[in-house]
Amino acid sequence: MSQIAASSPATEPSARLSSWSLLLNNRLATGGLIVLGIIALLAILAPLLPLDNPNATAPADRLQPPFSEGHLLGTDQLGRDILSRLIWGSQVSIAVGLSATAIAALAGSLIGLIAGFARGRTDNILMRLIDMLMAFPYILLALAIVAVLGPGLLNALYAIAIVNIPFFARNVRGVTIGLASREFVDAARLSGKSWLAILFTEVLPNVLPVIVITMSTTVGWMILETAGLSFLGLGAQPPQSDLGSMLGEGRSLLFNAPHVSIIPGLMIFALVMSINLLGDGVRDVLDPRLRAGDLTRPRAVTRIERKTKPKSTIDTDAILDVRGLETSFQRGRSAFPAVKSVSFSVKKGECLGLIGESGSGKSVTALSLLGLVASPPGVITEGAAYIEGEDVLSKSETGIRALRGAKVAYVFQDPLTTLHPLYKVGDQIAEAILAHQPVSKDEAKKRAVDLMEQVGIRDAAERVDAFPHQMSGGQRQRIGIAMALANDPDIIIADEPTTALDVTVQAKILDLLQDLRTKRGLALLLITHDFGVVAQVCDKVAVMKDGEIVEAGVTEAVLRDPQHAYTQKLKACVPELGQGKAFLDGVRPLFAEAAQ
Ligand code: ADP
Ligand code: MG
Repeated sequence: MSQIAASSPATEPSARLSSWSLLLNNRLATGGLIVLGIIALLAILAPLLPLDNPNATAPADRLQPPFSEGHLLGTDQLGRDILSRLIWGSQVSIAVGLSATAIAALAGSLIGLIAGFARGRTDNILMRLIDMLMAFPYILLALAIVAVLGPGLLNALYAIAIVNIPFFARNVRGVTIGLASREFVDAARLSGKSWLAILFTEVLPNVLPVIVITMSTTVGWMILETAGLSFLGLGAQPPQSDLGSMLGEGRSLLFNAPHVSIIPGLMIFALVMSINLLGDGVRDVLDPRLRAGDLTRPRAVTRIERKTKPKSTIDTDAILDVRGLETSFQRGRSAFPAVKSVSFSVKKGECLGLIGESGSGKSVTALSLLGLVASPPGVITEGAAYIEGEDVLSKSETGIRALRGAKVAYVFQDPLTTLHPLYKVGDQIAEAILAHQPVSKDEAKKRAVDLMEQVGIRDAAERVDAFPHQMSGGQRQRIGIAMALANDPDIIIADEPTTALDVTVQAKILDLLQDLRTKRGLALLLITHDFGVVAQVCDKVAVMKDGEIVEAGVTEAVLRDPQHAYTQKLKACVPELGQGKAFLDGVRPLFAEAAQ
């Protein structure tokens, strides 16, 4: 199976965007990059630009307004050219901010790495030292440090760097602790690597993104803090200019000559703002979930952009009627269609099996029906899903939410990830009930016990207080089914409900679903990749391949006489008892071509 699966995403465009184009996709970050680029370029080129000497005083020309002859931005109280001081001052501020960030990142990360990796007493001592630094409001701490070292730009730099070490140390330690107990680190230990080598070749590369993100988000802050110290006269000393000292000197002239302080103020604003926007953009680029270049994080709400508007109600005897559904995933500017024009219908009390190899689009189809595909990148581009004749996708988000869990219930593929690890299973079932029905908590809990009994959990009255980790995989899957049944749904969509289970439990769960279907008249959409399961449970079957339904019909007919080559292969994959080696001999030639 896996060999055919490997060939299916071949149609996928090679849309892995480079980090660059991703960053440029983010308009705010691009804006930040441009502004920062211009400021940085000016600052770097300061010695080459035809600027006046920033420190040359000219008492005769004092306090000239902007746009005056020879002084584009005017002059200050000593007649010095503001443009020149601004560009040289920016150079100083940026250099000090970056250096402080680099020092804080280096020292803080090193402390964090060692503390997180060594744990025990080393961790304790290092972290208590860090706590001592954090115990003071840090601008006060910076002031105290400068007071001890004496005013001056270099000392301000040290002070800013020192007070920012805790941020890096704490962040990096937290990530390192998580990494240090991971299997790949154990494997490196077993291979005999020294702890230093493990720290720098195994742990550090994984911590690096965190360090970069912390740096990009703190550098603007550090420039501000440097400016703050200079503003108070503790950083840059006259006649040297930096943005903070220019602001501080202009303060007394705020009413007579506002431009002297407003201009450096605007520069600080532009600088810090552009760095922060760029920092946010960098953080998003480093997050793989945001790789599509969108500005928002994926949410379990699907964007619906249908090119043709389908009828919002139709006449149908099916309780679930899906027509021409198309869902794609957008990556940058290209779209990868995962579900292509899929149509099927399920009547009350009927079971439709949706079968296909992994990656063929079964889960995406199921999630699309109630708008649960995460957007971005998912978009529904065409089609409709009618429940009792009404198109779900035309409904508002609130309208769809009222359907979810009440009329239509899902059993998700992986019972471990869908149950909340910190809540008791009984409470989770009760929560599903309370979301849709006006009953008391006790009543909901009582019903939870009933439901657990119904899905065949023994000693339900005691097990209701168990946590998910105290139950076996099969029991958790049953809890998932109990939650799906909580509000007496008319339709259950079960996405591979038995894939994670062993054969005997699988048989029990299938029996249970079958039983509920006949007893309650449920319509069941059963997703699976196992023809054996379909044969056992489903009246009808639809075979999916590469996002399309390639064959559909009554289960027996399809099984007896599969038309599509792919269905024949799927059928051949179901062994029969007593077939022995003949089964393998029969299956092998079918897949020989796919393996090539
Ligand atoms: P299955 O049939 O195994 O349930 P899915 O419906 O989950 O397969 O996936 C169908 C296709 O859609 C796959 O090729 C998968 O790579 C793609 N896909 C699923 N989810 C996403 C996503 N969030 N982003 C991009 N592609 C996705
Ligand atoms: Mg799936």
